[in-house]
Amino acid sequence: MLKAANLRKEYGSNVAVEDVEFEIESGSFATIVGPSGCGKSTLLRMLAGHLSPTAGRIELDGIDITDSPPQRRPTSLVFQSWSLFPHMTVAENIEFPIEARDLEPNGQVERLLEQVRLDPEEYADKPVSDLSGGQKQRVALARSLAYEPDILLLDEPLASLDYVLQKKLQRELTELNAELNTTFVYVTHSLESALIMSDQLFVIDDGSVIQRGSPDEIYQEPVDTFVAEFMGDANVFPIDVVERTDDAVRLDHHALEGTREFPYGPADRPDPEYLVVRHDDTVVTPALETEIGIPVTIANVLNKGNTALVEAKGTRDDEEYVSEISLDRVSEIGLTDGDEAYLQWDPEKTHVLPGGGS
Ligand code: ADP
Ligand code: MG
Repeated sequence: MLKAANLRKEYGSNVAVEDVEFEIESGSFATIVGPSGCGKSTLLRMLAGHLSPTAGRIELDGIDITDSPPQRRPTSLVFQSWSLFPHMTVAENIEFPIEARDLEPNGQVERLLEQVRLDPEEYADKPVSDLSGGQKQRVALARSLAYEPDILLLDEPLASLDYVLQKKLQRELTELNAELNTTFVYVTHSLESALIMSDQLFVIDDGSVIQRGSPDEIYQEPVDTFVAEFMGDANVFPIDVVERTDDAVRLDHHALEGTREFPYGPADRPDPEYLVVRHDDTVVTPALETEIGIPVTIANVLNKGNTALVEAKGTRDDEEYVSEISLDRVSEIGLTDGDEAYLQWDPEKTHVLPGGGS
């Protein structure tokens, strides 16, 4: 179990990581996700021992490792830029950290290359400079696994690869995590990879953990508008609170045809300010068919491949709304620019949330 308690890092007056607390189960795949500059790399470098925290503690299986130097902790860090030695061969690169830790290389290279899906016969003796970006990242991964770390820390390792390769390596990383007895802590600003790969997700903004949970929990129950918008494109519009009890709130918005009650709690949670509905949880049809809908005029229908983004303007409030529906549905309904319609959704798909984000 990897544990952080009140972990904090200040650069001068800039607080990059603020009182972060977490526990990551041994062997699991945890992802730290958040926008650029929110403190992800700083957090990871503290876990790796490359950076001293200003305050707080890092524990591994109950042992305080806050002040252990990098080479004394069972962690290994992989970066987006590979930091391989280009003039050395693949095998030499992989053996480097083994030797740096005064361990004897004993045939790990072949096994490690197989683990990262590179044929040892073909690649072991090639200079790294002859490899493609994806192959270099595989070698970097093999190298980081060479001394069998308990914890592999990955700082946006796929960010410089093309999309198809990213998907492939994402899958392979999840497989590798399942094969090995190693905890993966993966840092990314890309929500998509976070959702696909992780057992546990930590959403960070401005140095603080805003929400933690399984990808599904966070997707279904975002705590505020920051997380909701980070987790998927959504319509976010302000509402008025009419009445609040311990576990419910009555809201006023013209989409609700008067007021409507929604579950909301606990009692000490800040008042909701917004109603959030994901683009792909809405539909647009000429007549109102559900209980919640906003009269709109279609402004634009954008073909996205197998779905369309329907951009529309509220006829009562002049706000911009977006619905994502299948292309089949668009042609079935025959939506075109200038049409009057209703953007609507199942009440169950409504998120009632306080504002968030820095
Ligand atoms: P992320 O990896 O999420 O993009 P970083 O951890 O790199 O975020 O940075 C978090 C904050 O700390 C940013 O405001 C950044 O400018 C600042 N920062 C990062 N490294 C340093 C440094 N070495 N010195 C001063 N400020 C830094
Ligand atoms: Mg970073």
